[in-house]
Amino acid sequence: MKRTNERDKWIAKEKEFMCKVFRKFNDLVVSGAKGIEIESVDGRKFLDFTGGAHVCNVGYSHPKILKATKEQLEKLDFLALYNGVHPLRVKLAEKLRRIAPGSLREGKVAYCNDGSEATEFSIKLARYTTKRPFLVACFGAYHGGTMGALSLTLDSSDLRKSYSPFLPDIMGIPYANCYRCTFGREYPRCGMLCIEQIKYLFKTVVEPEEVAAIFIEPIQAHGGVIVPPSDYFQKMRKICSEFGILIIDDEVVTGFGRTGKMFGIQHFGIEPDVMYFGKPIAAGMPLGAILARKELMNNWVSSGPASTLAANLLSCARASALVDILHEERLVQNAAKMGSYIVKRAKELAERHPIIGDVRGRGLLIGIELVKNSRTKEPAQEEVNKIMEASYRKGLLFSISGLHKNVIKFSPPLILTDQQADKAIDIIEESLKAISNPNQ
Ligand code: PMP
Repeated sequence: MKRTNERDKWIAKEKEFMCKVFRKFNDLVVSGAKGIEIESVDGRKFLDFTGGAHVCNVGYSHPKILKATKEQLEKLDFLALYNGVHPLRVKLAEKLRRIAPGSLREGKVAYCNDGSEATEFSIKLARYTTKRPFLVACFGAYHGGTMGALSLTLDSSDLRKSYSPFLPDIMGIPYANCYRCTFGREYPRCGMLCIEQIKYLFKTVVEPEEVAAIFIEPIQAHGGVIVPPSDYFQKMRKICSEFGILIIDDEVVTGFGRTGKMFGIQHFGIEPDVMYFGKPIAAGMPLGAILARKELMNNWVSSGPASTLAANLLSCARASALVDILHEERLVQNAAKMGSYIVKRAKELAERHPIIGDVRGRGLLIGIELVKNSRTKEPAQEEVNKIMEASYRKGLLFSISGLHKNVIKFSPPLILTDQQADKAIDIIEESLKAISNPNQ
């Protein structure tokens, strides 16, 4: 009783003192978190299949992350980016290069504070180095909440509503969402009309020589865990290379092992010109980074990217430890293995529950799309909400994604075990049964 009162007290106080502009999926009041579990003040434990909103790739309170933070804290807790060289920052840049794909291994790093700021700086990098005004993003994309990043976020629901005007000279192109093809076609017989659309845009709206960059997510996470076929990015790469357009790869969610490879783009056989990182990079402290081809970074010489708190030393120490942990504990491999296992189990569920229209993903970024009818694919939005509620009561947290808000998104920490994966899928099945038989 006392614990329930404690919970109610904090919910009431939050309402009184904090603005509710940031949406939460539940009313959990948290007392602690370790590994994959979050504990609430009323003593309940929850499996966090949101992975702390894609941040906790090595789990909460990993001992090596805590150790790195404490050690740095005892040495120096802050040095403004403008006030001198710090070896930690240089070593981290070197480490990021070492794990990057292809020619980005020779690239250079610019630091910032988070994913949204990394998008902002990438916009500046693209416009400054190409001297071209136009930017292209994909329908359904999420690139952040600050005004430039939001201008590239092409989801018109509550994200953009009431915030216009956005940055000018931004255009949208279809993302290859083969489950819900914009053109009603089926891959691979579709002739990749989504790619043809890029060419059409360049014929009708803007000449390609005026386009600075196309921003991509290798897998759209917020957009519903959409995994394009590889030739979508390969054909896009060809067009961009022909016209000198940069491909800017947002790895804020897909980076650092999430998809079963170090970076999401490595599933698709192309090299971007720029990659940027946020969320998991410092295991829960603010940090963002942009890694771009050397020539671009050598040409980006204005005093442009201004960010006093960027590359916080504690964050850099944690990021450096994070890369080591991913290697030492073979977590990228574990993400691939556990991801395949969950997809297999979710597909078996789909055979028993026709409300599951599609199961997809790479590594531990998985989407389970619910539909009212498998032929019409009418989104089962209310049902997803009910499953989320039922799962929450049984101790499982996940988030909802997709333009129709009907996709269960799983992105648990990469330290996930078989037992935890089984428990989550069992809870989903119990919740599916509970919503189809509410009296049980
Ligand atoms: N890019 C992607 C792909 C994201 O999903 C997000 C956040 N969800 C961002 C950028 C922005 O990151 P942040 O909210 O940490 O600034």
